[in-house]
Amino acid sequence: MIPRGIGLLGGTFDPVHSGHLALARAARDALGLARVDFLPAGNPWQKDLVSPAHVRLAMLELAIAKMPGFRVEPIELMRFGATYTVETLRALRRRLGPSIPLVLILGGDQWRNLHTWRNWRSLADHADLAVCRRAGEPLEAVQEVSLWSADRMTTAEKLTESAFGRIAVFDMAPHGASATAIRRAMRTLPYARAMQALDGWLPIEVAGYIRAHGLYGAR
Ligand code: ATP
Repeated sequence: MIPRGIGLLGGTFDPVHSGHLALARAARDALGLARVDFLPAGNPWQKDLVSPAHVRLAMLELAIAKMPGFRVEPIELMRFGATYTVETLRALRRRLGPSIPLVLILGGDQWRNLHTWRNWRSLADHADLAVCRRAGEPLEAVQEVSLWSADRMTTAEKLTESAFGRIAVFDMAPHGASATAIRRAMRTLPYARAMQALDGWLPIEVAGYIRAHGLYGAR
């Protein structure tokens, strides 16, 4: 498979962790993507109390610095107010032109909630969708999403044959990392104990940044 197309992995990344990196790698390999762009959310409309954009961006840059083929797409950080994925995809599609495959990578949790996203059906007017199934877990979606997606489905290998409009599922080995658990460990445990408990979930440069800036109450 000749690598083609750009994967987009949206998230809060507060902080970025090894589960995100594993997801990006799994998507790149399964879909044959030329690169994966991490898309940090500016002002997440479904979450409150997130770290400032420049902090999350700095951690992302540190995490991917040595990873060829991974980049950060800061477009949502440059906007004011709520950002909706469909608007971001429209802007990126305008920038890329009609023929470069753009693939929105979705975790199983996002797929389950897709019907709550603004204008969710229009996502496919601008991008393909790749849904991650964690091995051993069934993929679930509400009925209107299942019905809508059924005749757009293709295989992971064939997804980037279309620049947009198609949907595929790819598999990933389960990875336990969670940003919520990382923030909790930093808040409740001394740094060294937190790092032990987190069992390699934090890229070392990101861990150093969290400590140096006392993020999440790290001490
Ligand atoms: P939080 O705990 O703050 O909700 P998170 O760790 O789930 O954060 P997000 O920034 O919300 O991270 O996630 C961005 C994307 O990464 C989502 O698609 C989510 O499904 C996926 N993701 C997060 N953690 C993992 C993991 N351990 N394995 C695979 N995918 C993950």
